[in-house]
Amino acid sequence: MSRIKKIALVLGAISAALYAFFQLRPPTGIQQASRFIMGTVCTIQVPGPPAGRAAIAKALDRLEECDRKFSVFIPSSPVARFNQAGTPIDDPEVVALIAQAVEVSRLSAGAFDITVFPLVELWGFYGAASRQPAPGEIAAALRKIGWQNIVIANGRVTKKNAELKIDLGAIAKGYAVGAAAEALRANNIHDALIDAGGDIYALGKLNNKPWQVGIRHPRARGILGRLDLSDLSVATSGDYAQFFIKGRARYHHIFDPRTGYPATNLASVSVIGRDAALADAWSTALFVMGPEKGMRLVAASTNLAAIMITAAGQVLLSPGLKGLAPKGGWNRKPLNAPAW
Ligand code: AMP
Ligand code: MG
Repeated sequence: MSRIKKIALVLGAISAALYAFFQLRPPTGIQQASRFIMGTVCTIQVPGPPAGRAAIAKALDRLEECDRKFSVFIPSSPVARFNQAGTPIDDPEVVALIAQAVEVSRLSAGAFDITVFPLVELWGFYGAASRQPAPGEIAAALRKIGWQNIVIANGRVTKKNAELKIDLGAIAKGYAVGAAAEALRANNIHDALIDAGGDIYALGKLNNKPWQVGIRHPRARGILGRLDLSDLSVATSGDYAQFFIKGRARYHHIFDPRTGYPATNLASVSVIGRDAALADAWSTALFVMGPEKGMRLVAASTNLAAIMITAAGQVLLSPGLKGLAPKGGWNRKPLNAPAW
């Protein structure tokens, strides 16, 4: 390589590094810290002086504590022990979250089901390489699942059949961002943005205005629109988060527990609500229920709002979103691209 080329390369690398540094640097007057927790980068921003950093560290510790309780991957977690050895769950926080999940299963007529674990494993979204299983394998996995086989009694969770395994992946991140918000409030922080991948909690305000949270476009770069949120959470479930393409079909990680296949009618669902765990659970539940049934349920609810993008590219907004819609309106660009 010529000397000039080498110098150009070095200069290019330096300018790229400087660019990344200034892009990643939070705006002045905002304290920010990130940690890799629950399989994703979790970031907390708090406006104000550096004194806020101690509270951010405590809130990140709280996210880690949630992971230790709810993860299927951490062998000592109550959930992993329940799955592997059938050990009853008696940690009150875990029992309460499972009870909340079961309630969403009941209200969604089984579209939401934390016992889908065998399907997630079979399709290879946990560890093994992703692949399309044979129909017989899917039928065998379906026989192992069913939220009615979870027993909650006397403050304990047990299972009706030994093969039952649970996966709180569709509700735990939401619960955790809500818990982190509580941890911040307990440390006298009333304005913050907590971001755990697809799950966000906007606590209080930024510069006396609601936090602006972008909703990602499921097929294009950039965002679909911005929400103004204050003391609200937003959770997004999308077919673009974990997926593989085979033939012309997209296979992703949100399963219809009745068929054993990934749910097909939607590309993305965002749910806004005060309870972050419920917003998370309902984003997954509505994804499986599909646009018609899902929107009917949200329209009847007093505490949820939703944005759906159908697999055909239509953007659907629930009535509750009128007060939240951004000034510039939604980016209703159709999703023409069938896949990335
Ligand atoms: P989310 O990103 O919140 O929609 O959660 C997706 C995760 O929830 C998946 O990776 C699975 O672990 C799990 N999951 C998949 N399908 C379902 C379902 N129908 N009900 C509950 N959990 C599910
Ligand atoms: Mg969810």
